[in-house]
Amino acid sequence: AGGKRRPIVGGNWKCNPATASSLDELCRNFDGVAPYLEKCDVYVCPSNLHVALVKDNFTPGVHVAPQNCNFKGCGAYTGEMSVDQIQDLGLGWVLIGHSERRGEFGLPTPAESNQLMATKLQYILDQGLNCVFCIGEPLSIRQKGIQAIVPILKALEDKSRVVIAYEPVWAIGTGVAATPEQAQETHKGIRDWIAANVDRATADAIRIQYGGSANAGNAPELSSFPDIDGFLVGGASLKPEISDIVKAIA
Ligand code: PGA
Repeated sequence: AGGKRRPIVGGNWKCNPATASSLDELCRNFDGVAPYLEKCDVYVCPSNLHVALVKDNFTPGVHVAPQNCNFKGCGAYTGEMSVDQIQDLGLGWVLIGHSERRGEFGLPTPAESNQLMATKLQYILDQGLNCVFCIGEPLSIRQKGIQAIVPILKALEDKSRVVIAYEPVWAIGTGVAATPEQAQETHKGIRDWIAANVDRATADAIRIQYGGSANAGNAPELSSFPDIDGFLVGGASLKPEISDIVKAIA
């Protein structure tokens, strides 16, 4: 990465693990990141049911970020989580817009549209939280990536509190990461578009994570490209190698 921006690495546990008894072991995998926290932000997205169980069980300085929230608050929203509840647990981050929620993986309705995500992001910022905003869809990736950020232009001005996670769908969970050149080209395209449509200072400040089969093997090379500011890691964040991924970019 270019060194202009503070790197940021997130672990997305998705709907894992099956048993609460294995949470401690997964938390301990993050102990190895402690030496790098001075130079790198690290967050973990446990499953919703596990957030409260693990939030005090990470090495200090690691943030816990739920995998979703609503944009209404508390009330008659069955199955949802509110920003108020997240803040009440003492958490400062939330992740939204993962492609597995946007309907890219065969969910019956792609309910989480770009417009809805933009509403959610603005609500989250207004409430005072930081947000990782995931983009990345199948086919013509760069075009679709840009489409996903058009509605969040205003929110991007809040450059220290919004992180973009670019995750090409074909790379998620497949073992086939984007090549560093592909990721760099897309990240630069997103950054240049922000420069043209907001301003250069915002574009230079916004952190863009790469996600999709990132691991300890490919992280060093991906990290060497100037517009790759960190990783959103799924499968490998359930293993001790997460600390090697952080080490590669920190
Ligand atoms: P993966 O998942 O690292 O297992 O490909 C990344 C993600 O979906 O965030």
